[in-house]
Amino acid sequence: RDQYDAIILGAGAAGLLCAAIAGQRGRRILLVDHADEVGKKILISGGGRCNFTNLHTAPDRYLSANPHFAKSALSRYTAADFIALVDSHRIAWHEKTLGQLFCDGSAKQIVALLLDECARGQVDLALGQSVTDIAHVTDYRVTIGARTVTAPSLVLATGGPSIPKLGATGFAYDVARRFGLKIVEPRPALVPLTLAGDDLLFRDLAGVATPVVARAGKASFHEAALFTHRGLSGPAILQASSYWRHGDAVGIDFLPAATPDWLLALKRTQPRTTLRRALAATIPDRLAEALSDRLAIGELAATTDRRLTDAARTLADWRFHPNGSEGYAKAEVTVGGISTADLSSQTMAARRVPGLYAIGEAVDVTGWLGGYNFQWAWASGWAAAQDV
Ligand code: FAD
Repeated sequence: RDQYDAIILGAGAAGLLCAAIAGQRGRRILLVDHADEVGKKILISGGGRCNFTNLHTAPDRYLSANPHFAKSALSRYTAADFIALVDSHRIAWHEKTLGQLFCDGSAKQIVALLLDECARGQVDLALGQSVTDIAHVTDYRVTIGARTVTAPSLVLATGGPSIPKLGATGFAYDVARRFGLKIVEPRPALVPLTLAGDDLLFRDLAGVATPVVARAGKASFHEAALFTHRGLSGPAILQASSYWRHGDAVGIDFLPAATPDWLLALKRTQPRTTLRRALAATIPDRLAEALSDRLAIGELAATTDRRLTDAARTLADWRFHPNGSEGYAKAEVTVGGISTADLSSQTMAARRVPGLYAIGEAVDVTGWLGGYNFQWAWASGWAAAQDV
């Protein structure tokens, strides 16, 4: 009874869906997790309501060394497929914003759905136990506590190292390396950025939020930014953080709707107004004050056209120089991971190691904020489940 068709390591989003689908295909599946409880990240996701997919799922919303890799899995198991599963369990949901779908009730419903689907697939669960050894001859022999189990397929679904206090580890990378798979340098992503030096003054604005366009690398995001006691956060910054590298600046457009000559036009119509008052018409007053103080501009009539044009340009691309991020302790995901160059995009199987698979966040495919990461977990888990 310790012989299985596949052993899946990690009972998170990807492992649970993969186990359920493979089990329902008639495969004997063992799903293993060192935590006592499955799907801990699902439970805390989306503020406890789980943003379980995104209606606008498309390959260009994912970061990977190979931008084409995610296409196959994402096209074969779509947001609509997961929504149909959610509907079949009569879980009520709503679109919050930007295609992001959340449970009306609780993320617990998504975990219950996945456990129910695993039960339908007669999946065996081994929870609260560490994997102490993995050997590969023809089959994989996995030692879990006092027990040794064998299977011709081994699926790595233990995620990335983000949020270690939830039990996240780099285990998948270690196992993958042992089997000769390459790892794309991992780094924390969807994470608040910290400010230092001149930018420190902005910490006085902790708690102020405003819609911006945030730019890092070639990416830009039109969402809210939030000033914090340590630096910058909010969805626009979290999104930009995935593209940000140490030493880069993050550019912020505080007035995404303004035209380049808006200050000149205002000078003609309201010469007596100040930059602070002009800004406060669209952004929070404390921020308007901080920005106008830094630009050292008061009344528009008293300011040359040239300076106003420069100020408008600066406000549309304010350069922050983060000195770091809040790290894995606060990162919602990890960019990088098991290299897609060593995996089949159709099956998620390792190209040169028979029977080894990697799915979910452990793989070098990372989604934007907004349900994209779960959709990748479902899609990659489904793809592997067709092949084990
Ligand atoms: P995980 O869900 O992380 O599962 C990995 C499993 O492996 C865990 O159960 C872990 O206990 C187990 N494990 C780890 N190491 C070992 C080991 N050595 N031995 C045995 N088991 C091990 N994404 C969205 O799309 N929408 C959201 O709303 C959302 N909200 C989030 C909120 C927070 C606070 C965080 C941290 C993340 C959020 N994410 C969200 C990202 C999403 O949770 C992950 O991308 C997703 O869970 C990855 O699925 P996975 O199955 O690959 O890994």
